[in-house]
Amino acid sequence: MKIEAVRTHILDHRLDQSFESASMRFDRRQHCLVEIICEDGTVGWGECLGPALPNAAVVRAYASALIGRNPLETEVIWSELYNLLRDQGQRGLTVTALSGIDIALWDIKGKHLGVPVSLLLGGRFRESVRAYATGFFRKDGVDRAADVAQEAARYVDEGFHAVKIKIGFNVEEDLRAIEALREALGPDIRLMIDANHGYDVLEAIELGKRAAACKVDWFEEPVVPEQLGAYRAVREGQPIPVAGGETWHGRHGMLEPLATRAVDIIQPDICGTGGFTEMRRIADLAALYGVRCVPHVWGTGIAIAAGLQFIAALPPNPQRVNPIEPILEFDRTHNPFRQAVLTRAIEHQSGVVRIPDGPGLGIEINRSALEEYALKDT
Ligand SMILES: [Mg+2]
Repeated sequence: MKIEAVRTHILDHRLDQSFESASMRFDRRQHCLVEIICEDGTVGWGECLGPALPNAAVVRAYASALIGRNPLETEVIWSELYNLLRDQGQRGLTVTALSGIDIALWDIKGKHLGVPVSLLLGGRFRESVRAYATGFFRKDGVDRAADVAQEAARYVDEGFHAVKIKIGFNVEEDLRAIEALREALGPDIRLMIDANHGYDVLEAIELGKRAAACKVDWFEEPVVPEQLGAYRAVREGQPIPVAGGETWHGRHGMLEPLATRAVDIIQPDICGTGGFTEMRRIADLAALYGVRCVPHVWGTGIAIAAGLQFIAALPPNPQRVNPIEPILEFDRTHNPFRQAVLTRAIEHQSGVVRIPDGPGLGIEINRSALEEYALKDT
């Protein structure tokens, strides 16, 4: 079995209504998909977290090292590609691009052997997972508290058991939004807050102390990811458990936050941190250090499918009669191609998502959607 071609697909949609997190404004949705084609006709799909055009450029830079290789040698290929750009990049685009390639190779391996990737990872601890709704971004020209309450009512209606709101803009404004959200959700639905590293330490501690009354499950990316000392100060200075990890790449990037307990919950993203090959090692590291692992998911149905295969095989920690179950991040913001890229959408039923059990990632790609949403201008 040999790799014949590596292609990238950049999907693009210009949004009618822009929205923003503390660190980014979204005027369009863009994602980079990776397609790896083998001589025998087997095709594998992957996806890269982060900016689509630079990711595609790095995937193309890796491509010549992939042609003619046996795609089943996932570990060998991962090591070689990582080493190719190691001197200039142990994190960032070099690893996010490698993630998309690695996911596509595992998809090929599963299809070749006729089993889901979760089985290749050791088996499925679960067939479904509860999803939490990620939304509540800030929009232009709307009353934030009223907007939050309206959006919350929709998720409650759909049956979600947990939601996550974007903060990190301004402590007072954020507190008003969190309070409006708790009010709209009632006492029982889980609420998480995500600052997308918009605060400094003093702001994060103040926000955390005051928001704790709203029963918040975790405080995600309170401060910039490079400052692990700042993370630890936030963790010590306020009562909400601290989460982070979507921008830490590879096991080396995860080691210090875990070893120094900069976070209570680590959130590696399979499309960013190195694909299945590296995610297994990171989950093992997290278990070694006794830190809860709740994967981050952001992208199209391919990213969701990859996240689900990994979650299926994520061992409960600790093993017990009623184990702590992982939860799936489920982006609810507008993205018309998120599910359209799949022939069968991965949707939730009352906040629960079934994990596909077909070969590889367990999905099939709708090529007409790839054409429809292909980037046409930059
Ligand atoms: Mg986040």
